[in-house]
Amino acid sequence: MADALREVSETLYSAASGAGCDTPVLVAVSKLQPATAIAELAAAGQRDFGENYVQEALRKRQELAVTGLARPLTWHLIGHLQGNKAKEAAAAFDWVQSVDRASIAAALGRHRPAALPPLNVLLQVNVDDETSKNGCHPDEVGALAAAVVAEPRLRLRGLMIIPAPWPDLEARRPAFRTAKQIFDDLRVAYPTVDTLSMGMSDDYLLAVGEGATMVRIGSALFGARGPRAS
Ligand SMILES: *Cc1c(COP(=O)(O)O)cnc(C)c1O
Repeated sequence: MADALREVSETLYSAASGAGCDTPVLVAVSKLQPATAIAELAAAGQRDFGENYVQEALRKRQELAVTGLARPLTWHLIGHLQGNKAKEAAAAFDWVQSVDRASIAAALGRHRPAALPPLNVLLQVNVDDETSKNGCHPDEVGALAAAVVAEPRLRLRGLMIIPAPWPDLEARRPAFRTAKQIFDDLRVAYPTVDTLSMGMSDDYLLAVGEGATMVRIGSALFGARGPRAS
């Protein structure tokens, strides 16, 4: 796993320097992976981890707390968030990348504990995937951004994009381009915006070429995912 991390990190670095930009932040997507795998990757130097399910993330973090990690980790929620999980998510994560409606922004803002720094928020925008119900429409980004900025316990950092999973990678490029345009507009309006999260194991090179500042990578680091852990 340490070898896979080194390989992905080097590929990211050379792709970014080829495109003349900073190396994107690597979020290791550990959904359905055991806590031992997270500990192993953390020991190899990985800091940012992404989880899709609130309950699964809490359980694994408890296991990791028992193990006693040498360094603190940064946790990203990247899966769809239900309203009834917002309170737990607001306390457990450093980032929520899947904010796609004003009601969830309000719930996160209300429940973010005062003892923690503001919660970093990305707006999940559905730029082209008609089969997915997650993500706001590009036309709604302005209103949703305003709803996040209105919450003092939230910090608007940018956008998260999952393009339609076209097998032909080149067909995903227009979605990444659209995302970059929306991101650039948002950045003009809000100075805290600095993060464009796009690119997964099979398409992250393409995403980096189109301006991703953060990539979310699971199987290329951990290998194939097993059946969902309970
Ligand atoms: C699972 C997942 C990933 C990682 O996918 P891989 O193909 O394993 O790299 C990234 N982002 C989101 C939102 C995911 O659900």
